[in-house]
Amino acid sequence: MTAPAKTLVITNIGELVTMLPLALSKRCTGTSESDLGRLGPHAWLAIQDGCIDAVGTDPLPVKYQGWSKLDAHGQLVLPGLVDSHTHALFAGSRAAEFWLRAAGTSYQDIAQAGGGIRATMTATRSASLETLERLLDLRLERMLRQGVTTVEVKSGYGLSVPEELRLLRLLSAAQQRTPQTLKITCLALHAPSPEHASRQSYVDACRQELLPMIAAEGLASSVDAFIDDGYFSTAEVDGYMRAAKDLGLGLRLHADEFTDAGAAAAAAAWGAHSADHLQCATPAAIARMAAAAVTATILPGTSLYTRIPFTDARPFTDRGVAVAIASDFNPGSCAITNLPLLATVACMQNRLRPAEAIAAVTYVPACSLDLGHRKGALAPGFDADLLVFELADAAAWLAAAGELQPTWVLAAGQVVSGPALP
Ligand SMILES: [Zn+2]
Repeated sequence: MTAPAKTLVITNIGELVTMLPLALSKRCTGTSESDLGRLGPHAWLAIQDGCIDAVGTDPLPVKYQGWSKLDAHGQLVLPGLVDSHTHALFAGSRAAEFWLRAAGTSYQDIAQAGGGIRATMTATRSASLETLERLLDLRLERMLRQGVTTVEVKSGYGLSVPEELRLLRLLSAAQQRTPQTLKITCLALHAPSPEHASRQSYVDACRQELLPMIAAEGLASSVDAFIDDGYFSTAEVDGYMRAAKDLGLGLRLHADEFTDAGAAAAAAAWGAHSADHLQCATPAAIARMAAAAVTATILPGTSLYTRIPFTDARPFTDRGVAVAIASDFNPGSCAITNLPLLATVACMQNRLRPAEAIAAVTYVPACSLDLGHRKGALAPGFDADLLVFELADAAAWLAAAGELQPTWVLAAGQVVSGPALP
């Protein structure tokens, strides 16, 4: 990292993708190509005290003439990427499950044979804090080098009140070590708990014991639950979700991935920020999501990695649902953290249009994490989280399928990946 510079102007930007039209109108739907807010060639971006001061095209205003300069040499500048669904805190390996799946065994059959989430729970519970911290930091650093400057991380491999608390406290402490902005989600309801005879008794324990501690210690900004056949039902988690909302926590859901479990419709009824996966969401549920402004977070990496269907984004976008793309990085069903690759895959496999795909990894997920006022766009007053790529324009970035790492990654105006500034 370089010494803090209070002011910096990036000059000679070939194309600057600002997302300004979306950010200024706080809109995440109906994204068209003009919403990318492209400036250039010869665009510039001024940073003061970690925030964007202004953007424009040459000539550079007199105000900025004396500021330190970074010549982008005609490169592309994008907002820092936002990954709004990860399970980056775990120990152990489930590589053998990939081998089995590739040989034809299903995800559910592997879970029933003792693999799946329960296997990672066992490995995570037995890992020391130091081990878990080191593994988390390595993964966050990898995401940062790929251009992800804001990351949502879920707990969910503790699966008891004390073990989930241990993971949430570890995640809270991680914010002090990483230049990325972390948003923490409690996913205690990732799978049934081995310590509880029934799913309902575990849900009730989480509601009565865990939620008040999360609120009191500020350990998470959201809660999540895995709602599907074999996991939890909407009826089982209804009281938990309403209690979480009453405590001021945001709601996110693993919704209708394998079956239509009614989770997308419940997300609308509960006023969730996001419903994720959504392969089996019905048209009626999608309409309810639109009416309740629930973001649809689509996870192409999981489809790519486990051979489950790719969610068709068009029924969501065409009905006015905001669509985000996230990695779902986890040890079992998606080893991919490369969000630029997934934006490209989303164009081809989830049928997002190019401008929608770029919004889906920047401004839309920022809004779904309550960060639409400072992340996911290069607007005045927003955090100076940005990426410089040796590419001509946004089209070249999408076409590159994540093959190219950023030349520089800046978080809050500081270089956090790439060579020190001259
Ligand atoms: Zn997930």
